[in-house]
Amino acid sequence: MEVIRSAAEVRAACDRARAEGRRVGFVPTMGALHEGHASLVRRARSECDLLVLSIFVNPLQFGPGEDFETYPRDERGDLETAERLGVDLVFAPSVEEMQPVRPPEVTVDPGPLGDRLEGASRPGHFRGVATVVARLFNIVGPCRAYFGEKDAQQLAVVRRLVRDLGFPVEVVPCPTVREPDGLARSSRNARLRPEEREAAGCLFLALSEAAERVRSGERDAATLVAVMAREIGATPLARLDYAAVVDEETFEEVREITGPARAVVAARFGSTRLIDNLRLPGP
Ligand code: AMP
Repeated sequence: MEVIRSAAEVRAACDRARAEGRRVGFVPTMGALHEGHASLVRRARSECDLLVLSIFVNPLQFGPGEDFETYPRDERGDLETAERLGVDLVFAPSVEEMQPVRPPEVTVDPGPLGDRLEGASRPGHFRGVATVVARLFNIVGPCRAYFGEKDAQQLAVVRRLVRDLGFPVEVVPCPTVREPDGLARSSRNARLRPEEREAAGCLFLALSEAAERVRSGERDAATLVAVMAREIGATPLARLDYAAVVDEETFEEVREITGPARAVVAARFGSTRLIDNLRLPGP
């Protein structure tokens, strides 16, 4: 496995592979790798020839007062994990390599999707995501890129980025990997105190309850939102940020379940903010 810091070298390696007819797979991450990332890597490994994993904690997607400084970082552990999973090339650039001018003057507007829900709670977040993903796609070039449904709104933003700016990238969505109690795997889980970790199970409980209600015939989004808010609100260490039922594509809140919809939640446990979502059963 090669560890490369330079964008030009990664581009050259990917160009070489494609010239030999090899398919490039790309898994972008912010490191602190866990089983969720591993599932993306395994999928990519099974479908591609040159497997590129990037590790970059992108300052552009963190707002003022967010956890950029304290975001979990473990490069040595990540490189061991990547090697074990069969990654061919790790791209671990410095901030200077990715953003020679800070802040960049030209950024990618994520469109209206960027202002909804997670974007409303974290102004500028999706602009930061779209900008760094565009730069990464420019470096890696034509590839299949693997993204987790855990960050469903991010996945939707990336799909639009590829569609509207014409990147030669096939976006591959991958299902959310969860702990035995349903908590979605996340690098931020490592920062939860034991009692917060236990409380965090309420996110999946809330989503599952909403899904169960839909299964038994509930169609009214406000009722589903109330169910989720009650579950999270009843958990002493949880502070609800939002609970919503949204259109699968646009992330606009719906009044009624009439088509593909997703329940989404965000809450704080101490200083750690977690998000999760679940696709709701069809009507
Ligand atoms: P991150 O390092 O948190 O930026 O995540 C990198 C990629 O891994 C993103 O596409 C995430 O959606 C995906 N990911 C993170 N956690 C999970 C999970 N629990 N299950 C599936 N994919 C995940």
